[in-house]
Amino acid sequence: MKAQKGISAVALVTACGLGVILGTLINAQRPRVALAQAARSAQPPDDGKLRIIIFGAHPDDAEYRGAGVAMKWAKMGNHVKLVSATNGDIGHWQMAGGPLALRRKKEVLEVDRRLGATTEVLDIHDGEIMPTLENRRMITRLIRQWNADVVITNRPNDYHPDHRYTSILVQDSAYMVGVPFFTPDVPPVKRNPVFLYASDRFQRPNPFRADVAVAIDDVMEPTLDALLVMESQIHEGGADGHAGLYPDDEAGRQRRRDEVRRNLARRYAGEADRYRDALVKFYGDGRGRSVHYAQAFEVCEYGRQPSAEELKQIFPF
Ligand SMILES: [Zn+2]
Repeated sequence: MKAQKGISAVALVTACGLGVILGTLINAQRPRVALAQAARSAQPPDDGKLRIIIFGAHPDDAEYRGAGVAMKWAKMGNHVKLVSATNGDIGHWQMAGGPLALRRKKEVLEVDRRLGATTEVLDIHDGEIMPTLENRRMITRLIRQWNADVVITNRPNDYHPDHRYTSILVQDSAYMVGVPFFTPDVPPVKRNPVFLYASDRFQRPNPFRADVAVAIDDVMEPTLDALLVMESQIHEGGADGHAGLYPDDEAGRQRRRDEVRRNLARRYAGEADRYRDALVKFYGDGRGRSVHYAQAFEVCEYGRQPSAEELKQIFPF
């Protein structure tokens, strides 16, 4: 766990301008350690384990969408990285700018440490990410650097423009990750990754299709513990919050903590009910019907198309 903490710290300090200065100071004191950690952070070992990279638009999206499966993968020794495409610096009703970006980065670093995953928060302003060539190159590089077998993001028909454009950037990278002379500074992936969409409730132009649904019952409690670290977003309500939502008195705060925990658990329980057919298909009738908490994914039609057999290898749960 200590090594992971080190990796996360490097990801933190390389992600923003202030971080570069801090990183330089740290590097001056411990150059070899810092460089070794940076290299590990950039690419996980080719040790036969899966390498999964999960993209979200804001510092909490990849965490919600990957949380349960991320912890399950990590517990089995697979390499999981959670990326926020923006720094989240307007995602609060009361505070904004650098202090909020730093607060949110600190939150996801701790969430991801608990999940067993590596973190990267890109320094793009919240509400402002665009599907530009520069950003397509950046996302392509991140997938290549992680040498990803599996890439996860949200679908491109989400309500939030940052969510939509993050998804489009990931989609636009699905072919380019293997084209040698696009971003030739980072070697292309040898095998096109499988691209998956996390589930959602949007109906237009087409509803989410659960190609695979997996149980997360065994990691639900520690996953909720991890997610609840994101106080600015969960307890205080992020951009949709208001004064008094997370009161000052301890009894009120405990009530709010209990409420948000129940709501989060309900979210993953709802997935199990909604995608019961996919659970039964994956686990068989007996186990599939007894799952309480689940996460579901749709296979993107870009990227490698996995067989049912390969989906079992990707989700060996
Ligand atoms: Zn978001």
